[in-house]
Amino acid sequence: MNKSEILKGLPTPCYVIDEEALIHNLKILRSVERQTGCHVLLAQKAFSSYCTYPLISDYISGTTASGLYEARLAYEHMRNRQIHVFSPAYKDEDFDQLLKICDHIIFNSFSQWRHFRSKALRCPEVEFGLRINPEYSEIETDIYNPCFENSRLGITIDNFEEDQLNGISGLHFHTMCEQGAETLVRTLHRVEEKFGKYLYNMKWLNFGGGHHITKPDYNIRLLVDEIRRVKEKYGVEVYIEPGEAVAINAGFLVSRVLDITKNGMDIAIMDTSAACHMPDVLEMPYRPYIFNSEEPGVLPYTYRLGCPTCLAGDVIGDYSFRKPLKINDALIFTDMAIYTMVKNNTFNGMPLPSIYLLHSDGNIELIRKFGYEDFKNRI
Ligand SMILES: *Cc1c(COP(=O)(O)O)cnc(C)c1O
Repeated sequence: MNKSEILKGLPTPCYVIDEEALIHNLKILRSVERQTGCHVLLAQKAFSSYCTYPLISDYISGTTASGLYEARLAYEHMRNRQIHVFSPAYKDEDFDQLLKICDHIIFNSFSQWRHFRSKALRCPEVEFGLRINPEYSEIETDIYNPCFENSRLGITIDNFEEDQLNGISGLHFHTMCEQGAETLVRTLHRVEEKFGKYLYNMKWLNFGGGHHITKPDYNIRLLVDEIRRVKEKYGVEVYIEPGEAVAINAGFLVSRVLDITKNGMDIAIMDTSAACHMPDVLEMPYRPYIFNSEEPGVLPYTYRLGCPTCLAGDVIGDYSFRKPLKINDALIFTDMAIYTMVKNNTFNGMPLPSIYLLHSDGNIELIRKFGYEDFKNRI
């Protein structure tokens, strides 16, 4: 059976993690580590499917977390690898636990650093860093741009307290989203212009995430050259923490047609919801790709794919197909591993899709199935 036949036979809705595609991405990331001596960390916020953490830890240096829960997940399932954490602010009780399980803890302000410094300095095995804001980002959507006006993320050069660096071993910036190495070059230029003089005294620089490294047209050569240049110039270790690039194109969402109706055009009601199961479709927004489909009007049969919630805007988009859709037909949405399982919700009492892992040998494994209790326990 080929992949799409296996997927179409599964109970829907379900996410399917594609191990073969994940390994493809991990090999590229490992080659960047090997060519440069840098460290690649999985940003768990994009993809936290810990059933794959043992596999991921075979290829890259570790993970980064947005807070205690993600750090703990990495500690439990990727134990032999580095765990970094960044949060806009830490709670006292969380910080004590983070000190026990993290290798790097990154602060968002000098006031957080001062608040935790005495505790921090009692843990010489943990390294501490500061997130800087170079006030340069090429992200055009404000909700994804950490450098928009009055952003809370990172310390700007005007607020940088150079007399407070005792105990700080690295700097961190995160200003990119789905971007190429050319954007990184321009960003580093600003980072170095503003913060370069401090970098000579640091042990490491973390380039954040948003590097689209595993996309076919990504300029890996340029990334490798930049990492080598920064390492040599400042004598620092370099970390990058992609989320998307680790699991891009490494998963599917399989859904079935529940009904077909008409209002000015043909409308198919699916058993999956954009709002609940792939919220970035509405938030970014973007149009997910579906196997064997085209833009509306390209193939003979065009449908608006709508969802079973009562939110009027819960619509995936308009797609055309070679044959008319029938009730129970399965459609396969691609690139559904990232920012889906970590973001889904049970709005409208929608069931959560099951999660399967399609192993590289073709075996399909049910990882998790959800039910009524999962809805009820969140309320
Ligand atoms: C979101 C985020 C990442 C990962 O970003 P991707 O776009 O998924 O690569 C890395 N670091 C930080 C601090 C982030 O907020």
